[in-house]
Amino acid sequence: MAYDYDDQNIFAKILRAEIPCDKVHETPHSLAFRDISPKAPHHVLVIPKGQYVCFDHFAADASDAEIADFTRAVGQVCALLGVEPGHGGDGYRLISNAGTNGVQEVAHLHVHILAGRNIGRMVQ
Ligand code: IMP
Repeated sequence: MAYDYDDQNIFAKILRAEIPCDKVHETPHSLAFRDISPKAPHHVLVIPKGQYVCFDHFAADASDAEIADFTRAVGQVCALLGVEPGHGGDGYRLISNAGTNGVQEVAHLHVHILAGRNIGRMVQ
């Protein structure tokens, strides 16, 4: 096992309802809620309910059902926000930080959905 999951991280506490969140969407295997410190008009975090530290951990160990659910949950949140470019929306950016160089603050896999303004180029 390459990853030790710390079940005291803040998203684990949100999943256990020990602390509140501003919920946007929930599926059998995933939860989406607004970032507490938004970097865009829409800033939503999507997390799997399972105990995965980051994306490669999830890709290696999650079931196909969890992976499908999580992927669809991200798309469903984009639809709920009305930002899908294929349906008249202005688009969005997905980010998932991992480890030290990714500057990951919370050690539970999360995808940031940023939308509602032009997010700018990744590399200037
Ligand atoms: P990352 O781990 O650097 O990708 O970012 C973690 C994100 O979680 C940051 O954008 C924080 O603002 C956000 N965050 C930290 N605590 C909470 C919380 O209690 N609710 C919602 N978002 C949070």
